Amino acid sequence: MLVLIANLGSTSFKYRLYRMESTEQEVLAKGGYERVTDYAAVIDDALATLQKDGVIASPDEIDAVGFKTVLGKDLSGCVVADDVCVKALDDFAAVAPAHNPPYANGIRQFAQSLPKAQLVALFETAFYQWVPQARANYALPQAWRDAGIKRYGFHGASHKFVAERSAEMLGRNDVAAVTAALYQKGPQEISGTPLRVVSCHLGGSSSVTGIYNGVAIGTSMGFSPQSGLPQNNRVGDLDSGALPYAMKTLGLTLEEAERQMTKESGLLGLSGVSNDLRDVIAAMKDGNPHAALALDHLVDSIRHWVGAFAWQMGGLDALVFTAGIGENNSDLRAAVCAGLENFGLVIDSDKNTAARAVEAELQAAHSRVKILVIPANEEQVLAREVYRKISSLS
Ligand code: AMP
Repeated sequence: MLVLIANLGSTSFKYRLYRMESTEQEVLAKGGYERVTDYAAVIDDALATLQKDGVIASPDEIDAVGFKTVLGKDLSGCVVADDVCVKALDDFAAVAPAHNPPYANGIRQFAQSLPKAQLVALFETAFYQWVPQARANYALPQAWRDAGIKRYGFHGASHKFVAERSAEMLGRNDVAAVTAALYQKGPQEISGTPLRVVSCHLGGSSSVTGIYNGVAIGTSMGFSPQSGLPQNNRVGDLDSGALPYAMKTLGLTLEEAERQMTKESGLLGLSGVSNDLRDVIAAMKDGNPHAALALDHLVDSIRHWVGAFAWQMGGLDALVFTAGIGENNSDLRAAVCAGLENFGLVIDSDKNTAARAVEAELQAAHSRVKILVIPANEEQVLAREVYRKISSLS
C-alpha cells in the first residue's frame, strides 16, 4: 500500500511517501515547499515530481493520503477525511487558526488531485477520547461546555506512539496490542499487572500525558495548545483572571493580548532571550537569571504534571522522554528525575549523558521505575494509523 503523508502548515507543505507492508514502513520519497501561497499548485507539483523521479508511474498508484489534523468540532479519532471532517475543521478554525484552515484546504485539494485515493485524518485529539469526563471537563456553565469548551489534548500521535513502543520495550505486548488497535476497537481489558506510563513530549511545543494500560487517562494540554507546560513562545497554563486584568491595566486589546500570549510568552517571554531552549541554556550558563528562571519553570511544570498522573494512576512504571528536547537534552532529563529515589525512580547519569536521539533505557540498575527515551516520528505514526484505518475499512 502506498501512503502519502501530507504535512500542511500555514505557509508550508511537506510530504513523505511510504510503502506500507503491515505496520512496517519504507520511506520511498520526501520533499517539501516553503512560503506556499497556492496549495493546489504545490500539491500537483509534488505529484508530478514523484512521477518524473520514477517513484510512481502514475499518481493513481497512491492508495491513501494521511493528514495530521489538529482539532475538529464534535469530531476526533482516525477518520475518513470527507466533507464531515472538513466541516469539523472549519467549525473550529478560530481555535486553531494556524492549523485548521491549511488542513481543510489541503483535504479539499487532494480530493480533487487524487480522486481515487482514500483520504484519512488522524486528529491530534484522538488519543484522548477515553479520558474520564471528570478530567476532560472544565467547571464552566453548560452553555460554554455546549460550545465545545473542554480539555481536548494535543500531540496525540506522538503520545500514542510512545504508549505502543514503551509497552513493547517493557515486554508488555498485551498492552502494545491494545494501543495499536485503539482507534479500531477502543480500550480493552488487560489481565494481570497494570502498566502505568507517563509520556513527556518536550519540543517546540510540549505536553505530558498519563497512559494507563495503553490508553491516555489525562494530559497537560487543554482546550487549545495554549495550556499545560510553558511552550517555546506560548504561555502554557494561565489563570483565566489574568487576561481581563492585563487588558485593563496594560491597556491591551484582546488581539494584542492574544498575540503576546501566543508569540511572546513561554520560554521566550520568561527568558527574554529566545524560544529555543538551547539558546536559553547557553544564556543561563553565561549567568542570565531570566534564562535560569525559564529553565527552572519548565522543569517545575514537567514535574508537576508527571506527579499528577503518577498519583492518578496509583503509581508509575515508566517515565518516557520524546521530541526535540526530551530526546536530546540530558541535563533537563536529569533535572526532571532529581530527588525521586523515594518513589523508586533513579536515573543512571552515564546512560543519560550517552543517550541522544536514540531509543534508550536510562534507569539505574536498582530503579523500580523505568526511564526511557523514545525518538518521535510523527509521519511514521501517521502512516501506521492510515494503514490500520484502511485495513479496517476493507
Ligand atoms: P521538536 O518540536 O520536537 O522538533 O523539537 C524542537 C525543539 O527541540 C527546538 O525548538 C529546540 O529548542 C529543542 N532542542 C533540540 N535539541 C535540543 C538540545 N540538545 N537541548 C535543548 N533543546 C533542544
